[in-house]
Amino acid sequence: MRAAQQPLMLRSFFLSLSQNRDLRRWMEHSRLAKRLTRRFIAGNTLREAIAVCDRLNTEGILTTLDHLGESVTDPSEANQAREHCMEALRAIASRSLQSTISIKLTQMGLDIDEKLCFENARQLVAYASEIGSRVEFDMESSAYTDRTLAIVEKLHNEYGCVRAVIQAYLFRSEADIEKLNRELLPVRICKGAYVEPPDVAFEKKSDVDTNYLKLAHALLEDGASPGIATHDERMVEVAKPFPKDSFEYQMLYGIRRDLQRKLVREGYRVRVYVPYGDAWYPYFMRRLAERPANVLFLVRNFFKN
Ligand SMILES: Cc1cc2nc3c(=O)[nH]c(=O)nc-3n(C[C@H](O)[C@H](O)[C@H](O)COP(=O)(O)OP(=O)(O)OC[C@H]3O[C@@H](n4cnc5c(N)ncnc54)[C@H](O)[C@@H]3O)c2cc1C
Repeated sequence: MRAAQQPLMLRSFFLSLSQNRDLRRWMEHSRLAKRLTRRFIAGNTLREAIAVCDRLNTEGILTTLDHLGESVTDPSEANQAREHCMEALRAIASRSLQSTISIKLTQMGLDIDEKLCFENARQLVAYASEIGSRVEFDMESSAYTDRTLAIVEKLHNEYGCVRAVIQAYLFRSEADIEKLNRELLPVRICKGAYVEPPDVAFEKKSDVDTNYLKLAHALLEDGASPGIATHDERMVEVAKPFPKDSFEYQMLYGIRRDLQRKLVREGYRVRVYVPYGDAWYPYFMRRLAERPANVLFLVRNFFKN
């Protein structure tokens, strides 16, 4: 096996573990696992997540709250997920937090009934618009791209206050960005975190990076309030020549905190994605897949603390 293949194999390994239901059940109920994951998950409750947002806002960092969860299979679970997100919006309003929320449409019932999913998302966007916040629609695997964009576009036309996510690893993304730019629909650009077949996505990291730079540039030139979501300093540099109030950087809670603070000191807008809740396992596994060295990092910190 060539050395260059090792990170790819580890990535696939962690992504396949993210689908393992038994391990998920065990991890999400384990106190030990909770301690291990504290670095990347703000807490199990909204209260813990709000405390994190308060602290970040005080440091001049904007936030987006993500009540963890995806792929629900029952309408009552989808409605419950909507209520959790509504509670987060109410907390944002009552504490005047500089925060949006991020949601996944499979959490709102996309796999069960598209009408139910749309209505759940609509209620959240309507309330976000009332309180001057925003709903950011995370992008899941390519099986959901068309349906997700259709819902986001409809809500954009009705309310504004949404942001779509486009993944640089997909071949289709350039055309999607051209369309969303024409509609002045805000976009978060990220590299992409799911396993995709080779007929829809670039396989080589260098190709994904090249496409990211190209798409970020298109958003910065012609888009509306883009979110440049990355921890990669080469990708961060592409936005620096553009006016500081025309875009924001977005990063994940617990990752490259040094870079987050440096950018704020330099006068850039930075938003941190703050995940919380009991259903943290798939999110956590995707973070390990991106950087398998995190396993060593977490274990070392665990023993240090
Ligand atoms: C705010 C935000 C929202 C996102 N939303 C989505 C979404 O909706 N859909 C989706 O598919 N993906 C989403 N992602 C994930 C994204 O697609 C990438 O998988 C992830 O950001 C890693 O890519 P990178 O740009 O940081 O670059 P990489 O090339 O992966 O990493 C560059 C450098 O960043 C640091 N780094 C990156 N990841 C980690 C990590 N897990 N732990 C520690 N250090 C790390 C390391 O120093 C690494 O060398 C989101 C990412 C962010 C920041």
